[in-house]
Amino acid sequence: MPSFSLEVIGDDSDFVHLDYAASAPCVRAAADAVQDLLPRYGSVHRGTGVRSQASTLAYELARDVVAEFVGARPGDTVIFTRNTTDALNLLARALPAGTTTVQFDGEHHANLLPWPNPLRLPTPASADEAVHALKQALDGLTGPAVLTVTGASNVTGEVWPVRELADVAHSYGVRVVVDAAQLAPHRPVDLEDLGADWIAFSGHKLYAPFGAGVLAGRSDWLDAAGPYLAGGGASAAVGDDLDDLVWATGAARHEGGTPNLLGAVAIAAVCEALTATDRFALHQQEQHLLARLRDGLAGIPEAVEVSVFGPDHPRVGIVSLALPGHDPAAVAQLLGRDHGIGVRAGQFCAHPLVRRLTGSEQTGSCSDGGTGLLRISFGLGSDIDDVDRLLAALAAVLRS
Ligand code: PLP
Repeated sequence: MPSFSLEVIGDDSDFVHLDYAASAPCVRAAADAVQDLLPRYGSVHRGTGVRSQASTLAYELARDVVAEFVGARPGDTVIFTRNTTDALNLLARALPAGTTTVQFDGEHHANLLPWPNPLRLPTPASADEAVHALKQALDGLTGPAVLTVTGASNVTGEVWPVRELADVAHSYGVRVVVDAAQLAPHRPVDLEDLGADWIAFSGHKLYAPFGAGVLAGRSDWLDAAGPYLAGGGASAAVGDDLDDLVWATGAARHEGGTPNLLGAVAIAAVCEALTATDRFALHQQEQHLLARLRDGLAGIPEAVEVSVFGPDHPRVGIVSLALPGHDPAAVAQLLGRDHGIGVRAGQFCAHPLVRRLTGSEQTGSCSDGGTGLLRISFGLGSDIDDVDRLLAALAAVLRS
């Protein structure tokens, strides 16, 4: 059972939400933190009044909490962004000119599309193959490079061998970016343990409301780059000649405009609550639900679980199913309409990976079902009843 502060708020008793990988529900810690600030917030970094001072303090405290959550090292920066997509775009624009980005093509589009000079490796069939493919690619590479890799797949839930890949990358002097959008809600995300130079994640997948995310990691490239958003906050001094300006240093350089205080504070509250919790117990509960789901699916041969690394590879609470002979979008509709179960159908903004997993040539949109897979994902607040209800409903829909 998660602690009180990690209880999901809201009464969903008639409805089962199994789409955590898209957006997770809000937990009490985040809701309380926002509620606490609502009657007394003011502008961050911009005023002398009590509200402004308290808000500046709350914002910087949130940064400190997130820094601890990711195990930030001396000199690392924590930047509040809008979400993971924003964080990865920010970093992509800060790469030194001429940097090659090495990536596997099974990434979410947020970690596939922003990067300059991509060297795309085909999604491997095993963790060992991933490491081998990376070595081969780096052997043939000249000039600076960065590896950008997901922590856990938003399609299969599989945990990528980030540490192993990072060790290889670092042995070639290549820095490592981890897209932790799906990892952070399920596993500790320590920069050092992961071997990451940077990490990015979203508040709305981490049980906080929408609109805030995090980029954390090494500051040198970020400090050397132009600001992500030019404007107030990002500028330290602007002369009469507008070219005569000094950009801010540190996180402020890339946090142009008034920051999302409530979003930052909500993320920090969840980080704090997760840190204070027995993560291993949460992990065990998640694996218990996963086992129940997969056991149940074995009795529904119309639904075929997909994976990159094979069924025994570790995964977080995300499972995608191919439904041969059925339209995943139609099945998802029926699960929602007739059974009150929210799942997701489609290609989950990972078109190359889903095409590979389904052997399909077709490309669908990010948001609609169209072709593709049916995805079930869960987290804090999910229980065995949710899984059993899904299994019964899925069997009924597929056999109707
Ligand atoms: N990376 C992964 C692995 C994701 O699953 C997602 C969203 O589903 C993203 C990045 C993008 O997250 P956001 O939409 O919050 O920017």
